[in-house]
Amino acid sequence: MTKIKPSPVALVTGSSSGIGAAIAERLAAEGYLALVNARSENAGARRTLDAIRAAGNQAELAIGDLSQVAEIRRVFQEIRERYGRIDVLVNNAGICPFHEWDEVTEEIWDRTQETNLKAGFFCTQEAAKLMIENKTAGRIMAISSISAIKGGTVQSHYCPTKGGQISMMNAFAVCLGGHGITCNSILPGTIETPINADYLATGNNRANLEVQTCVGYIGLPADVAGMVAFLARPEARYITGASIVVDGGELVKHL
Ligand code: NAD
Repeated sequence: MTKIKPSPVALVTGSSSGIGAAIAERLAAEGYLALVNARSENAGARRTLDAIRAAGNQAELAIGDLSQVAEIRRVFQEIRERYGRIDVLVNNAGICPFHEWDEVTEEIWDRTQETNLKAGFFCTQEAAKLMIENKTAGRIMAISSISAIKGGTVQSHYCPTKGGQISMMNAFAVCLGGHGITCNSILPGTIETPINADYLATGNNRANLEVQTCVGYIGLPADVAGMVAFLARPEARYITGASIVVDGGELVKHL
């Protein structure tokens, strides 16, 4: 009897919309069982799940509010029990509440840190334990941002979380490299998603952002998903501790 090879498993945090949904769809198309995470079993999570299955690929839900460490541990306990493995973790979940620097409250600061940075740390900790137990040459990535390098007038609390993600992936690259696990950061520029839909729809914001890129247009979630898919492949084994910019040339353009 032919033995069925179990699919490798990829958890994409915050994959009920935007970049995370595109990453889950792309990794599923590459042969992973994609675990779709959202804070609750909402319409977005179901949409991602259905899209992956409609394309003939594999997906399951992994619901949990990852800003809570207890929830992260529960989600990973379920992954252990149900699938017994994790091969790729993409720390994508993030929030970007736009506020002027003098309007940022302690609550906004804490919420942004907990979602964008703390969640990624404890997800990485749990994923790495399981990868090491299984001797998996795993792949861990953070969806950081060019906002880690560039400031923004309404992002003074958001930018440090994105800088922190890079520093965290670099540190984990050192901790986990001996186990064959790579840890990298992807720095998207402006990508059209629900996180910036209102902003892009306001005044000249879209045109102003387009002109800041070399290519003259705003990126799509699939542009980021393509880089994740590449980093997940065996031929990317020597890339770790890297910060890879996917921004249509925004960082290098001098206006
Ligand atoms: P999005 O709002 O569509 O996606 C963010 C996802 O994270 C949502 O699905 C949301 O439900 C989820 N999420 C938020 N808090 C969560 C929590 N506590 N637990 C689980 N899930 C949670 O926006 P997006 O643009 O797709 O953002 C994805 C990532 O990309 C973010 O980390 C963002 O900072 C980063 N990013 C986006 C852009 C851009 O221009 N869109 C640029 C650079 C970086």
